Amino acid sequence: MEDCIFCKIANGEIGTDKVYEDEFVTAFRDLNPQAPVHILVVPKKHYSNVLEVKENDDIIAKIYGAINKIAKQENIDQSGFRVINNCGKDAGQTVMHMHFHIIAGRALGDKIV
Ligand code: 5GP
Ligand code: ZN
Repeated sequence: MEDCIFCKIANGEIGTDKVYEDEFVTAFRDLNPQAPVHILVVPKKHYSNVLEVKENDDIIAKIYGAINKIAKQENIDQSGFRVINNCGKDAGQTVMHMHFHIIAGRALGDKIV
């Protein structure tokens, strides 16, 4: 996908603070962290958002498999963390390449749900 910042990060065209990578997924620290740990987990393949994930596609399982490993690597598996996916306008999605935020490292306060 041309001109997609997260595609460029995923394919190595743009350098970033990478914390995890496998065949399907890459994860890196958010440019504007909202907590001591703020990591973005993205598929290497471009999906605009979760609406493009088909029923038999296992990319979400791959992403959560990566989240599990990252949580242990970052030592937040015991203290806990929040995973957030923004989809579309009302959710405030700003980068149109599907991504999951891992937020952790402090008490996260108010929950929406
Ligand atoms: P969204 O609001 O779409 O759910 O989240 C997009 C996130 O991507 C924001 O938290 C923003 O700080 C982060 N972000 C945007 N551009 C870049 C970038 O070039 N590098 C990194 N590491 N994070 C970015
Ligand atoms: Zn992309």
